Amino acid sequence: VIEIRGLHKAYGSLEVIKGVSLTAPRGHVISLIGSSGSGKSTLLRCCNLLEDSQQGEILFDGEAVRWTGQGLERRPADRAQVTRFRTNLSMVFQQFNLWSHMTILQNVMEAPVTVLGEDRATVEARARELLAKVGIGDKCEAWPAQLSGGQQQRAAIARALCMQPRALLFDEPTSALDPELQQEVVKVIKDLAAEHRTMIIVTHDMRLANDVSDHVVFLHQGVICEEGPPDRVFGAPQSDRLRQFLSATM
Ligand code: ATP
Ligand code: MG
Repeated sequence: VIEIRGLHKAYGSLEVIKGVSLTAPRGHVISLIGSSGSGKSTLLRCCNLLEDSQQGEILFDGEAVRWTGQGLERRPADRAQVTRFRTNLSMVFQQFNLWSHMTILQNVMEAPVTVLGEDRATVEARARELLAKVGIGDKCEAWPAQLSGGQQQRAAIARALCMQPRALLFDEPTSALDPELQQEVVKVIKDLAAEHRTMIIVTHDMRLANDVSDHVVFLHQGVICEEGPPDRVFGAPQSDRLRQFLSATM
């Protein structure tokens, strides 16, 4: 469903992604691991066009992003296509990013109503169902500040799901949480994996990557250094770099 071919991305003269190709087939969970600064977040943000890239292709369900300009001037050519990509690829951030002036229910309902123009009553029913599914059905009328970090992140996941995206992108969904709260969020992600949702997850949690992934990608200094099924990546790493990384994190 998501395909990246030969992607290059630089911030000015700093090359951050140096020719990465990656495929997330429908129903598969891909984990992106690697040390700080290796380019994981940048790659994820390129996927849903939150960042521009200078070279390479990005495809979603076989449809390639159309570009205009070249090199540092390259931009998506078609705003409607960008909106469609973003709508179909919901992102969940490390810092939840809930709107503090809206209740939890309003947070979850906002984008489907304003961006997709869906009927309020339909969206509300779906939002309540999703909040119940992630275990905070009783928090609909609460404000974000009244929730724990784990509850806020689950609300953010419900908000992403309410767009009915075809794939989900997670950027370190558990990193801002205390260990006990991480488990609540891990459980929700595991449930989504069991439903065969297409997901790309950037994580420092090797147990999560091992438990939910079909495929693990180890990024090092902007290139894929090693990739494979979790039992091979974690059980029989081939490169010294990956072995070093794993011994430092596990
Ligand atoms: P972490 O695990 O710490 O989140 P990461 O793998 O997600 O790291 P990125 O955030 O993708 O790494 O950053 C990759 C490189 O790009 C880093 O060297 C970083 O300093 C640089 N970088 C990231 N965002 C920007 C930006 N907006 N402007 C300039 N440089 C940036
Ligand atoms: Mg990051």
